[in-house]
Amino acid sequence: MNAKLKITFLGTGTSSGIPMIACNCEVCTSTDKKDNRLRASILVQSSNTTIVVDTTPDFRYQMLREKVKKINAVLFTHPHKDHIAGLDDIRAFNYFQQSSIDIYANTLTQEALKKEFSYIFAEKKYPGIPEVDLRIIDKQPFVIGDISIIPILVWHLHMPVLGFRFGDFTYITDANKIEEQERKKITGSKIMVLNALREKKHISHFNLAEAIEIVHQLNVPEAYFIHLSHQIGKHQDVEKTLPAGIHLAYDGLRLMC
Ligand SMILES: [Zn+2]
Ligand SMILES: [Zn+2]
Repeated sequence: MNAKLKITFLGTGTSSGIPMIACNCEVCTSTDKKDNRLRASILVQSSNTTIVVDTTPDFRYQMLREKVKKINAVLFTHPHKDHIAGLDDIRAFNYFQQSSIDIYANTLTQEALKKEFSYIFAEKKYPGIPEVDLRIIDKQPFVIGDISIIPILVWHLHMPVLGFRFGDFTYITDANKIEEQERKKITGSKIMVLNALREKKHISHFNLAEAIEIVHQLNVPEAYFIHLSHQIGKHQDVEKTLPAGIHLAYDGLRLMC
């Protein structure tokens, strides 16, 4: 029996976020809060365990906004900057929890973290820097607290990215291809999150039509799209065009699964 999970969307935007710096388009200047999108990340919580997926450049603000007081672990999907840049700010959790934080990532991401945050992994450490315990993950399922997790390998052009299935909830960001074997791991999910950058085709992300097709092929009854570009249009306009059960996610959205 899986733990009952609370999912919070910390950010639903693509790497630039929305509004995009210096952009005057109707999406970036929209007064609808749902058109403001921080970089893509979610919080997965059971009654006693809190997991953050990716630490975006907006991580500090995302933790403050959602009043997160404790985290048990960080899971990383891949090493692109918009998914790792906020790692330094886990220092606050080290300080209040008086412990290091478990970081789950594949080898590729771990190598990037060691390069981009070399001071965290240095032999002689400056006091007060983040304290982390690296744990390698690949395709094998693992457990954090009372939450079981199945990694799902997807492709972001040539880069392997990890999606995660938590009970009946599946989260996939930054992908433009999911192989047949990995699709089987998603089947049976009640809710799935998938990246859908914009309407126009893109080299390393699913576009809207491709993302809809996958949700239908996998027969998942409820889906939320993330990693949205300002080119997708205004939340309200796009939402009206989507098939039953499929939605754009927005920052702050909460789901139970
Ligand atoms: Zn990304
Ligand atoms: Zn990426």
